[in-house]
Amino acid sequence: MRLLTESAVSLSLTNPTIAKEQAALARRVKLKFNVRLDPSLTRFTCRGCKGLLVPGVNARVRLGHGKPTIIRVTCSDCGHVNRKVVGEA
Ligand SMILES: [Zn+2]
Repeated sequence: MRLLTESAVSLSLTNPTIAKEQAALARRVKLKFNVRLDPSLTRFTCRGCKGLLVPGVNARVRLGHGKPTIIRVTCSDCGHVNRKVVGEA
């Protein structure tokens, strides 16, 4: 799982088409074996379209202000905004 997702992320920098297939494959494997994505890898997955999210490639990352700090990752594929709280709440 980790390997699939990591290679999908690295591939997205050079070959987005293959990277998407790789991400789809990773998702199928995940569903089949009912395993959870590594927490460090979920930030690369869009909650809207379940696609691959790569900051700088198909995602915009914005830092929220105030506390707690919230990272907003906007998916350019479906427009979904993935929010992630970082730091102490
Ligand atoms: Zn999306």
